[in-house]
Amino acid sequence: MGKITNLFGFDNSYAGLPQRFFSKQNPRPVAAPKLIKFNASLAAELGLQLNGKTDEYLAQFFSGNEIPSGAEPIALAYAGHQFGGFSILGDGRAVLLGEIIAANGTRFDIQLKGSGQTAFSRGGDGRAGLGPVLREYIISEAMHALGVPTARSLAAVVTGEQIYREAAIDGAIVTRVAASHIRFGTFEYFAAKNDFDGLKIVADYAITRHYPNISKSENPYLELLREVAKSQAFLVAKWMNIGFIHGVMNTDNMLISGETIDYGPCAFMDNYDPKTVYSSIDRHGRYRFENQPIIAQWNLARLAEALLPLIDADVVKAVKACEEIIAEFPTIYQENCLENMQAKLGLALNEDGDLALAQEFLDILHTNQLDYTNSFRQLLDFAKGEIVPREFEQWSKKWQIRRTKEVNNPEEMSRLIQENNPAFIPRNHLVEEAIVAASQNANFAPFEELISVLANPYADTSGSEHYRTPPRTDQIVTATFCGT
Ligand code: AMP
Ligand code: MG
Repeated sequence: MGKITNLFGFDNSYAGLPQRFFSKQNPRPVAAPKLIKFNASLAAELGLQLNGKTDEYLAQFFSGNEIPSGAEPIALAYAGHQFGGFSILGDGRAVLLGEIIAANGTRFDIQLKGSGQTAFSRGGDGRAGLGPVLREYIISEAMHALGVPTARSLAAVVTGEQIYREAAIDGAIVTRVAASHIRFGTFEYFAAKNDFDGLKIVADYAITRHYPNISKSENPYLELLREVAKSQAFLVAKWMNIGFIHGVMNTDNMLISGETIDYGPCAFMDNYDPKTVYSSIDRHGRYRFENQPIIAQWNLARLAEALLPLIDADVVKAVKACEEIIAEFPTIYQENCLENMQAKLGLALNEDGDLALAQEFLDILHTNQLDYTNSFRQLLDFAKGEIVPREFEQWSKKWQIRRTKEVNNPEEMSRLIQENNPAFIPRNHLVEEAIVAASQNANFAPFEELISVLANPYADTSGSEHYRTPPRTDQIVTATFCGT
């Protein structure tokens, strides 16, 4: 096969940054690539000229065996705090093929994950397994449909090679699309190396790419921290709103753009319990559900530390300015949460007592070990006047009184409830079922079906009980594992 011309329309900017920002690295060829999924609707949204191509053709470059013209493959340098400890990291199993500009003018990274060793692999094989790749595909696309800012999945291939974890498993590669891959840890990388110029270059680059409105402000680097704090507050409030647990909120997995990235041991909560933790590597529950906003703030403090020299030559002044922003984070986060909760309860107005009303609902779920997603969705039935289960009777009366203050009519309130309480989430046991069928029996039907249901998470639910039913005891997933 000759060079594939002009299909992506690459327009690379990160590869134009100084050499020390990355290492040039082509994806490493694989034995027998086979396309297992192509996201045609995302491709169309991005304006890629890929629809209608054969699977064999697509598999060539979603595996990295063919490098499309215009690509300048690089592995990015970054560092990060992992479970509290600092390390120099970098893309050890991913390469950025290049950037494209979508029809709406937004610049996106196209990255292959699982594409082989790079200068940053530190002894790892640079590969990803089929299970984790399917997991990333399912959950990232579900998050997008749920309205959460996220990196997305354009394609998945199997490599035709085995990789070795606890056992031999099929190798696979996911093509990730993200607003960028600049992490908190990218800033930490240059700060750790006392590379002031590098730090300034990445900050200016991030501002131009993600927060152009602050470029003319008096102190753009302080404003960058403020904007990132706002994006994180918005993002984590969204996670909490749908019961999502990221699982590895290390600073290398937090994007400056405010998108979710790195779907490793992430999971959705079934029964509501703020202490829920799934990740098998999170032994002390650092990244448990209720800790996510606190960790987001902790991560912002690490970003602030890296930014200090840019913010003010006088370190005392720089620290003080940053501390104010970090201290504001819980308030901004709470505002986001309250707004989200009000929408879930079908309330368009802001009244005193709304937060308490929401908290009381959560307490009922916790005490009675009820399913988070289905309990909220059940409010649609309550709103229609259907019989309210005993545990909700008292609460429901308060809610009805609160509803009388709304100017929206009942239909509008119900619409708000439906639009903010998903019926379908990527439940752990369903994700597991899809992965097992695909990786053990080469049966991709459950994967395909799950993806299609999750594309419309707020839709009406008739006929889709299988996808709404919480796991039976024997189906409960108690631990999730990292993609590595
Ligand atoms: P993650 O847990 O996926 O966020 O990865 C953390 C760090 O480990 C990043 O620097 C990755 O590039 C690196 N890494 C993870 N898995 C592998 C692998 N199989 N081979 C090489 N590097 C890896
Ligand atoms: Mg990562």
